[in-house]
Amino acid sequence: MSRTGNRRRGRPPAFSYRETWKGLLRRQSTGLALCCDQFLLELLAKRFGTPLYVYSASTIRSRMIAFDRAFRKIPHTICYSVKANSNLSILRLLANMGCGFDVVSGGELERVLRTDRRLAKNTVFSGVGKTADEMQAALRAGILLFNVESESELSALAECAERSKQTARVALRVNPDVPANTHPYISTGMQRHKFGIPISEARTLYARGFGPRYLKISGVSVHIGSQIIDVKPFAAAMERVTELVRELRADGHKIDYVDAGGGLGIAYEERDVSKFSEHLAGYAEALLRPLRGLKVHLLLEPGRFIVGPAGALLTRVLYRKANGGSRFVVVDAAMNDLVRPSLYRAYHEIVPVRLASPAGTQIVDVVGPVCETGDFFAHDRELPLLQEGDLLALLDVGAYGMALASNYNTRLRPAEVLVDGKSVKVIRRRETMEDVLRPEARF
Ligand SMILES: *Cc1c(COP(=O)(O)O)cnc(C)c1O
Repeated sequence: MSRTGNRRRGRPPAFSYRETWKGLLRRQSTGLALCCDQFLLELLAKRFGTPLYVYSASTIRSRMIAFDRAFRKIPHTICYSVKANSNLSILRLLANMGCGFDVVSGGELERVLRTDRRLAKNTVFSGVGKTADEMQAALRAGILLFNVESESELSALAECAERSKQTARVALRVNPDVPANTHPYISTGMQRHKFGIPISEARTLYARGFGPRYLKISGVSVHIGSQIIDVKPFAAAMERVTELVRELRADGHKIDYVDAGGGLGIAYEERDVSKFSEHLAGYAEALLRPLRGLKVHLLLEPGRFIVGPAGALLTRVLYRKANGGSRFVVVDAAMNDLVRPSLYRAYHEIVPVRLASPAGTQIVDVVGPVCETGDFFAHDRELPLLQEGDLLALLDVGAYGMALASNYNTRLRPAEVLVDGKSVKVIRRRETMEDVLRPEARF
């Protein structure tokens, strides 16, 4: 196979190279160009401008279907974690597949309700700092489950529920004290982290749940972190949760739900497509084995796994420059558009939208225009020789990409488009200067 053939096989299915042609009867090849499904990315960039987030609906669907199938042996509901990518059209797409949702703020709850108010019945509310207003809104909407993270929060929820005379179904989020081998900022399941209730103290706190009339203890929840590749920590956490469920049932609680959280990682660097189903099956087995015979309804909160590989960020090369020994490629996207490399030193593959031949390569830093040394997408990356004006695609940015974008340096956040079969839709228009300045006072 040729160099380009290998590249093609290595791409995630959403983004692959296609040969393009010109001339009468398409006789003359013009080389290989990166596509999202049927669409040439260079045409999308021309039409919608850069930087531009492009998502593949078919990839989101197929990942959701695969995830769902992996848990077919047990009654379950997938509650997509809204914070990974909260665009209303993405929520709509997932809702149409019968998905539930996991929200961590009143704002995210509002997004779900605006997609369809009936989605509340499959929505769980997580997070360490829910305010009384947020709890009220969730009670009013009639959500499935509150994942409560402290004794004080349990009291606050009891008060809210009492005031509104609406029953709150509750799971306590326990902290199983298992290390997950991931970036420290997105590891959450150890005793020293702010999340959850130490599993050793859970039974005592659950006992408090017997008191308030409008609280209904219904489950146990756990979430140990994000971008976790090794499935063993998931199994360890689930074993501890299972043990707790048995104890709680013995104490007289009715535990209907186990919420396993999210956190399954994706292959940002090593993109061997064949490992995908094995990895997913291994994850399902890690959760299901401890649950065997327990008779619970399993809730799952995947975020990154569903949408991560479905997105690319298109950016144009503005300038090339060399400072001392370093060569820089300055692009028109920046850390405000995609902060993961700056925040977590995250790796994102960067590929040219058009493969040039002959292909020389160069070791470069890919950086944005923001006034921070931390504004980079890659350091010492081997990339094909690039010209000013060339288009690049940063891959696997569907999760925690646009969701974390900001207006730092008064940059307008990018547009987002969704490719779905033969259609391409702008699901968020590019911000205007007016959008950004409107909330500010003028003197
Ligand atoms: C962030 C989060 C998730 C989703 O995590 P992913 O790594 O994107 O799957 C799920 N549940 C809770 C409680 C979270 O905070």
